Amino acid sequence: MLDLETILQDFLILDQSVNGRRLVYLDNAATTQKPLAVMLTSRHYYEAVNANIHRGTHKLARTATEAFEKARQTVATHLNAASADEVVFTSGTTAGINLVSSSLARSGRISPGDEVLISALEHHSNIVPWQMLCQQTGANLKIIPCHEDGTLDREAFRGLLASGRVKILALTWISNAFGTVNPVVEMTHAAHHAGALVLIDAAQAIAHLPTDVQAIGADFLVFSGHKLYSTTGSGVLWGRESLLQELPPWQGGGEMISEVTFEKTTYNDPPFKFEAGTPNIEGAIALGAAIDYVNDIGLPAIHEHEMTLIRRAAEVLGDIPGIRFYGPADRSGSLSFNIEGAHHFDLGTLMDQMGVAVRTGHHCCQPLMSRFGITGTVRASFALYNTQADVDALADVTRKAVDMLR
Ligand code: PLP
Repeated sequence: MLDLETILQDFLILDQSVNGRRLVYLDNAATTQKPLAVMLTSRHYYEAVNANIHRGTHKLARTATEAFEKARQTVATHLNAASADEVVFTSGTTAGINLVSSSLARSGRISPGDEVLISALEHHSNIVPWQMLCQQTGANLKIIPCHEDGTLDREAFRGLLASGRVKILALTWISNAFGTVNPVVEMTHAAHHAGALVLIDAAQAIAHLPTDVQAIGADFLVFSGHKLYSTTGSGVLWGRESLLQELPPWQGGGEMISEVTFEKTTYNDPPFKFEAGTPNIEGAIALGAAIDYVNDIGLPAIHEHEMTLIRRAAEVLGDIPGIRFYGPADRSGSLSFNIEGAHHFDLGTLMDQMGVAVRTGHHCCQPLMSRFGITGTVRASFALYNTQADVDALADVTRKAVDMLR
């Protein structure tokens, strides 16, 4: 059981009213709120430390560098990475995927006719960069279809791997649109068996499940700090060290070099090879604080709490006539639904007027929406600070909004 009374004191933003009602924040899949510990870490950084890292000899530069590298170690430990050198700081999930796809496109590993495998559940961030790679290399994008319940068709997956041409599988761990939890260990194993690399999009999973990159066995894993109770503009690419050594850099600039002449440049070792320019120093340090915060509470306890809320939400909303939920019953993080006779956008707008923040629309998953013949859904997404009272408010305002629209 989480100590919600204490936890709520850490999230000052939640203590406010919207349209005269207590704010109920259920848009956590888009971004999470930040605990005081993270905000104080950011503030302390700018009040007492701020300096550029790695190159300075003065005190502030040394302190900033130490804090930045300590955050890298915190991330590495959290992910159970073999080494902190496998942790590349990025600006977020999108940047991490673009880094890997751009680097792979120039690596010589992908030839015309090769295949890139993604799933029907992917966020646009895990679709478009691969389309760009295919345009550059002549590879073909292949899609693992999903069933009506929003789970992936594993037989079709095995069939797609059988082509023997798949060079990389890029797969979301938890679907941001439907909450489907993909069996990443099993799918990674199968993809490796077929000779493909594997990238896991952990943008959603990172806040809900303990992440052990060695147990998953993939080659790359990406996530954003802002979905893990940290600030926007920071994120992580974890990559297997041998691959980070082998792959060419993404962007060129300061920090990623070993030696530069006008004729030729030699590159720094990973992770620095992939961190061109001044990084988001405060963001990385704040991410370290967010990870400490989450681990003090414990991800297994957080997950259990969120699962109780999400199951209860499905139960109390379930008897609204004409409601359809998307995704399987054991969904995690997000609960997506439509209600006959009430457009998702109108529902979301009315719910906001009653103080409940949900997301409506396609959730950056237009191909998935097309697959289900819809333009979008209402999505309530949960975090560690949500309560039973939030679920009750969700059910109450959804019913009221439906009554107004019908
Ligand atoms: N992948 C998934 C599954 C997501 O949910 C998101 C954001 O919603 C992204 C990728 C992109 O994350 P960001 O915008 O932080 O780069």
